[in-house]
Formats: sequence, structure tokens, C-alpha cells
Amino acid sequence: MAKYELTLAHLYGNLLNTYGDNGNILMLKYVAKQMDIDLKIEIVSIHEPFEPEKYDLVFFGGGQDFEQKIVSDDIQSKKESLISFIENDGVILAICGGYQLLGHYYIGAHGEKIYGISALDHYTLSQDNNRFIGDVKIYNEEFGETYVGFENHNGRTFLGKGERPLGKVVEGYGNNGEDQSEGAIYRNVYCSYFHGPILARNENLARRLVQLAFDKKYNA
Ligand code: GLN
Repeated sequence: MAKYELTLAHLYGNLLNTYGDNGNILMLKYVAKQMDIDLKIEIVSIHEPFEPEKYDLVFFGGGQDFEQKIVSDDIQSKKESLISFIENDGVILAICGGYQLLGHYYIGAHGEKIYGISALDHYTLSQDNNRFIGDVKIYNEEFGETYVGFENHNGRTFLGKGERPLGKVVEGYGNNGEDQSEGAIYRNVYCSYFHGPILARNENLARRLVQLAFDKKYNA
């Protein structure tokens, strides 16, 4: 038996799970095990409450516009509890569609406005008949770390107040193909467009997330 225990909520895990994003959870479990932590996983999906005090970590994956619309309608009822989790320094990893839904809105590929919860201050526009697809590499100066991944998104995200990018684009498009930013960090929320899954290809980031959740629960 592991000495410690952390619990992860997999937000809409049965709806948002494109491009192997679920592999991030396997990676978190693997890293946690090496740190003598048993990571328990619970899916929190539509019509289910999100109870912030139950969780140490949240994973929110990517999806197609269709599923994102369903999640967008439901997540409004979890808005307050998710914001309270975030403002209380809960640890979140949000990828692509999940990343977009933590912000103000995402204009879908057909021009529809898909609302997020405005927990973070970014917004996402669409692009006409184009997607940003390909390998991507970024550098995070603060941690002195390079992250690699694969991006595939229509959305062009622009960061707002209190957010800093996960890294500066070295190769690929990143948030919007314009300002060289990729992803976002706000408090203990980490967002990215990287599939791959991001944590399987960037072990340092997986360790950072587990460590943050561990410190909050055991070293606070
Ligand atoms: N549907 C969104 C977009 O195309 C998100 C895609 C994703 O999560 N992979 O931008």
C-alpha cells in the first residue's frame, strides 16, 4: 500500500478524450506511484456535481466541437465550484477543448459561440477552413524546460489578465499562430494545446503537477 493518497477528478472523461489525452492520467498515476502516492481517479461528468473539497487534481481533456457544446451547457452548473477549486490553488491540467472551456468562450468552426466558465481570462476565436496541425515545441523560461507535443486545433486562443503562457513557441503554432505563446498558467492551473499526450512526452511537467498537489495536501 502506498503511503499517501491523492484524488483526481477526470472532468467529462466520457465526453472529452481526443487524441489519447487520457494517457495523461496514466502518466500522473505512474509518477505518483514512484512518489509512494496512490492516485485515485473519478470521472465527473454531466448532471454530476463537482465537489471541490474532494479533489487534489483535475484533468480536463480535449474534444470535438460537438462534445464541447454539450459540456459547455453542463459546465455552467459547475462554474462556481470549479472557480472555488482554482482560487483555492487546486491543481488542474486542461488540454485543448478543456483549456478553451476554462476561458470566456470559443467560437466553433461553424461560427457558434461556445461559452466557457470565465475562470481564466482567455478567449478563443476560430479560423476559416484551417486548423493548426503538427508537431510543436515550446520553451518555458521560468522552469528552464522544453516541452514537445502535437497540436490539432481550429481555435486561436488569446491570453488575458493574470495568465502567462506555458511556454514560448520554438516550433509550431501555439495558442494563435501570432504571438508565440503556447498554453497558459494561472495559479496552479496548467493549460495547453498539446496532445501526445503531453505528460507522457514531458515527464517533468507530470512531476510538477503531482508535486504541487502533494505539497498542497501534505506540506501546507
Ligand atoms: N474543437 C476544438 C478546436 O478545434 C478543440 C480541439 C481539441 O480539443 N483537440 O479548437
